[in-house]
Amino acid sequence: MRILLVEDNDRLAAVTADALRAGGFTVDRVADAGQAEDALAASRFEAVVLDLGLPDRDGMELLRDIRRRYACPVLILTARDGCNAIVDGLNAGADDYLLKPFRVEELVARLRALLRRPGTALDVVLRQANVEVNSATRAVKVSGAELRLTRKEVGALELLVRRNGQVIAKSTIEEALYGFDDEVSDNAIEVLIHRLRKKLEGAGAGVDIHNLRGIGYLLTETSR
Ligand code: CA
Repeated sequence: MRILLVEDNDRLAAVTADALRAGGFTVDRVADAGQAEDALAASRFEAVVLDLGLPDRDGMELLRDIRRRYACPVLILTARDGCNAIVDGLNAGADDYLLKPFRVEELVARLRALLRRPGTALDVVLRQANVEVNSATRAVKVSGAELRLTRKEVGALELLVRRNGQVIAKSTIEEALYGFDDEVSDNAIEVLIHRLRKKLEGAGAGVDIHNLRGIGYLLTETSR
């Protein structure tokens, strides 16, 4: 789940991004409205966390723009007193809000709730054969036993299970798991999927990941 964090306070942005990453999200950080517009035009995000007090433009205006052009949910952050900014924000199409200062754990919980809303069709526990992926806790189980995976391995498995039976392009996996600033080698996804496949196989998972060369990956149930 890739999140765009728009926050000009560097320290707050760093702490928030770390908490979101620990919560299993992929995070891109930008510090003003101009950068946010560029990021939204370049990539697909599952949600936007938007500070309303930005240096280059009124955050409320940016919110209206995002709402007009993109479908992803927006959670606004505001330090402004009183309810006016919140009411204005919700009227302008924000899906949720937090008043500063907030607990980062609360932000993670609110984002998960937003992404679980009907319409986004995100169930918490995804199942395929004897494999379970809990999209909130990031725990993976095979036949009820926990399988230890890295954060990116869980992310890739989650995408494959969600697209059950459909081919998913390598670039889609790459976009979902890596932020702008991450160094991604040419074969990073191949290596990641290879390791994931080995771990699943070792745990007796009833699923196979097929590599369709030049096209992408496909998860199917094994015929065993
Ligand atoms: Ca600010």
